[in-house]
Amino acid sequence: MTVDNKPNQMIMVRIGEITLKGLNRNKFERRLISNMRRRLERLGQFTITKAQSRIYIEAMERSADLEAAMQAIQPVFGVVSVSPVWIFDGSFDDLLKQAVIYVGELIQDQTGKSFKVETRRGDKRFSLTSMEISSEVGHQIMEAYPDQLRVDLHHPDFTLYVEIREQLCLYSRVLPGHRGLPVGTGGRGMLLLSGGIDSPVAGYLMASRGMELEAVYFHAFPYTSDQAREKVLKLAEILSDYTGRMTVHVVDFTDAQLALRDHCDQDMLTVITRRMMMRIAEQLAYKRRCKVLITGDSLGQVASQTLAAICAIDCVVTMPVFRPLIGMNKNETVRIAREIGTFETSIEPYEDCCTVFVAKHPKTHPSIDDAEASETGLEIDSMIQSVLEKIEVIEV
Ligand code: ATP
Ligand code: MG
Repeated sequence: MTVDNKPNQMIMVRIGEITLKGLNRNKFERRLISNMRRRLERLGQFTITKAQSRIYIEAMERSADLEAAMQAIQPVFGVVSVSPVWIFDGSFDDLLKQAVIYVGELIQDQTGKSFKVETRRGDKRFSLTSMEISSEVGHQIMEAYPDQLRVDLHHPDFTLYVEIREQLCLYSRVLPGHRGLPVGTGGRGMLLLSGGIDSPVAGYLMASRGMELEAVYFHAFPYTSDQAREKVLKLAEILSDYTGRMTVHVVDFTDAQLALRDHCDQDMLTVITRRMMMRIAEQLAYKRRCKVLITGDSLGQVASQTLAAICAIDCVVTMPVFRPLIGMNKNETVRIAREIGTFETSIEPYEDCCTVFVAKHPKTHPSIDDAEASETGLEIDSMIQSVLEKIEVIEV
């Protein structure tokens, strides 16, 4: 970072939880920076510098679009918030001068705006207190734009933030990030991604704890349309905004699903289908070095998500199954889906395979014995093998 008396425009990134990571802190920060660097690649040349619990991003060419860079950085997990900032060095007079110029650019020709000034000092180079600095800066600004501005300490239209650290810093916008831990610091998980509302949110939540995701989608064409497949890929693409890239395995599940339908009791079909999905997902997870399966189940939401059903499903795999939505109400899941931008796609009306093959009256409390009895006579292993041979791999 090069700083002189002329302000440099940069992006300031605040990082939260990862600064608590003690000895691992470096590892977390390095990963965060490399995740950010990847997001910036297509936007031009930037330098990324770390200073205390902040990261600064500076464009190396004039033409680079800082606003676009800020939008690209904001969804990266580990980021608490981002601000476009002016950074410079100098005396208290320089600070006052730059604050006046900064606010002038901010308000341009607008009138009637109210504002306040807030100061934070990490460095006590000026003899004034934070309050005194704020009031002096505010005073200078009012002198410069008496007809355009007024002070409002309680409900201002904007706040001018002044930070006094090794450098001087001015900003007014703070965009919240998604917090969490950098993707890649929490191992790898295989997300069972359907076209519904829940599984994308489940993936988002695990990724927010640093987990790198791959996804598997069970497609039963023509019972599920190609639009259903497109919808899942679109959801994966929205998720990849947060996770970086993502590999999606599209499983051709038609033959297996028809075989299960012809073989099993109607009321057990949902659980048996889910058991099959879990077995296949687990094999795929082993192959792709994922250590856990992730689903969007929430306790009691539908027949296949009662405790009995979950037990009858999980016992076919040895890998842990994470269900981050298990204790969540639907409205909370919907809120997150809206916030992360998957909701509108999830509610597009294309059937997923389970609604086509769904039983009218599924057993709500299937025991493990019930499930095993329903599967008697099925060549489970060879079914898994033949499904594993028909997987399409798509990078989003
Ligand atoms: P979602 O909203 O995620 O579709 P849901 O409430 O519709 O969930 P189910 O259809 O019972 O619930 O599915 C439960 C979970 O099983 C899903 O969250 C997902 O993880 C997984 N799943 C269901 N169908 C598929 C599929 N076709 N491909 C991949 N995973 C699936
Ligand atoms: Mg579903």
